[in-house]
Amino acid sequence: MAPENDTTPATVAEGTAAGDTAKVGLDFIRTRITEDNASGRFGNRVHTRFPPEPNGYLHLGHAKSICLNFGVAREFGGLCNLRFDDTNPTKEETEYVDSIREDVRWLGGVWDDREFYASDYFEKLYDYAEQLIKMGKAYVDDLSAEEIREYRGTLTEPGRESPWRNRSVDENLDLFRRMRAGEFGDGQKVLRAKIDMTSPNVVMRDPTLYRIRHAEHHRTGNKWCIYPMYDYTHCLSDSIEGITHSLCTLEFINNRELYDWVLETLGAYRPQQIEFARLNVTYTVLSKRKLIQLVKEGHVTGWDDPRMPTLSGMRRRGIPPEALREFCSRIGLARADSTVEYSMLEFCVREYLNEHTPRVMAVLDPVKVVIENYPVGQVEEVDMPYHPEDASYGSRKVPFSRELYIERDDFRLEPPKKFHRLAPGAEVRLRYAYFITCREAVLDDAGNVVELRCVYDPESKGGQSPDGRKVKGTIHWVSAAHAIPAEVRLYDQLFAVENPNAAPEGKTFLDNLNPESLTKVEALLEPALATFKAGDKMQFERLGYYCKDKDSTDAKPVFNRTTTLRDTWAKLEKKGA
Ligand code: ATP
Ligand code: MG
Repeated sequence: MAPENDTTPATVAEGTAAGDTAKVGLDFIRTRITEDNASGRFGNRVHTRFPPEPNGYLHLGHAKSICLNFGVAREFGGLCNLRFDDTNPTKEETEYVDSIREDVRWLGGVWDDREFYASDYFEKLYDYAEQLIKMGKAYVDDLSAEEIREYRGTLTEPGRESPWRNRSVDENLDLFRRMRAGEFGDGQKVLRAKIDMTSPNVVMRDPTLYRIRHAEHHRTGNKWCIYPMYDYTHCLSDSIEGITHSLCTLEFINNRELYDWVLETLGAYRPQQIEFARLNVTYTVLSKRKLIQLVKEGHVTGWDDPRMPTLSGMRRRGIPPEALREFCSRIGLARADSTVEYSMLEFCVREYLNEHTPRVMAVLDPVKVVIENYPVGQVEEVDMPYHPEDASYGSRKVPFSRELYIERDDFRLEPPKKFHRLAPGAEVRLRYAYFITCREAVLDDAGNVVELRCVYDPESKGGQSPDGRKVKGTIHWVSAAHAIPAEVRLYDQLFAVENPNAAPEGKTFLDNLNPESLTKVEALLEPALATFKAGDKMQFERLGYYCKDKDSTDAKPVFNRTTTLRDTWAKLEKKGA
């Protein structure tokens, strides 16, 4: 793990609302904004933006940026725009735009009517480019992409000037207009800024501003065949929108000089760019390129596969936005890259779900229990609260009868010491129902338990001891005749190693996929679960947090395991250490 230099948590006090920094230390970005407000630099305005490129679905890394940009705006009484950075016509799709909108809204981002597209500015950006040409600050270059790379030099060697660098303003204007008119093919010409081919900052060595792409754009159709480059577009879009603080990830640190150069040269309004560290999380990849590959090659079922670190995948898995916001708040902001443990996210998820989900009973690996002294055909309705500490959740009636199912794992033929659940001769409490004692286990020829013959104590109604005798174990159960069959999907990490990006020679991150990341089981649920809707979250008692999946049908509901009850990962890791 990389050292965490200069890490200031955005919030320190537990129980502080995500993003609420009123009472706690400020991170370096919020400190900077506070200083700018004090000096009146932006007239006390705070205006940020979240600028996704619509070329994939948003992931956990974007959550950090969303919480930061929208959070800062909210805390300082400012505004945050949603801006689609759509300058690459070949990789962008409206499907992505729609998903991004949905995901940002889900995470709590509010942008009102400030939904913008870099493509809305194409005309303005073009005018600015002509202005640069007229100022002698941009020129049309005929070098090929490969030649441009070659001429650029390296970190240790200066670049060389293109033979086309000193074209006259008139010639440049004429060529640039003809580029726009479609007279040239893809890659035949580019527009470059005329800055300094010997700059120690390679970004400043006459960067490309426009390229030719005869491609249809998802919003501007075939209106354009030249498209502005990201660096040029980004700073001008920020400027046009009056952004005060342009927050971006560290890899743009060298681009800041170009960002400032473009705006200063054009005499345009200049926001302040501030960089922060990208979020990396163990056992996952957070790069759109890799996530696209997982989807396109069918390693997962789609962008919203619950194993994916996409916001749509996490939503489908049952991770609440509140937990994600808390996670983003806890990890804080740093100026140096680091990797966050996945278990930290799980911690936030459990903490939230523990307080905010009803408890229900489900048996994932059923074994039958027959209560021999319980009348055949009798059914009792056991009243069970949905939440042990919060009466506002209400309660439901759970049918109890002579034949039940319990978890196979809650029985041992030969129980180890301190096994407080069911075993031959042992007594256990069925949650909220009765004490039962196992009389006999019926085995098949292979020695597998197929049925447990038990007796119950009619005096222990409600699971209360009738005479003060103690029963240590309490287990969950469902009534055989009333149980609903369901498919339950148990997820494990999508990748089997802590850093999936690091693959040995000749291998790729795909070789690090965990072949056991999904296990489907046929489970039996208490009947009340039929009333839950897709997206509803609940705790299966003693098993974990679950969420009803959109694949559910009336005949066969489907549930996703969001997370187990305890941090099994941290434990496993400790054991391994
Ligand atoms: P990727 O590397 O996955 O393709 P990107 O940075 O190209 O991501 P954009 O759509 O350009 O994706 O990202 C929108 C915003 O989200 C940017 O401001 C970017 O800095 C931020 N962002 C993307 N990934 C992360 C991350 N891992 N941690 C923090 N912020 C991120
Ligand atoms: Mg990007």
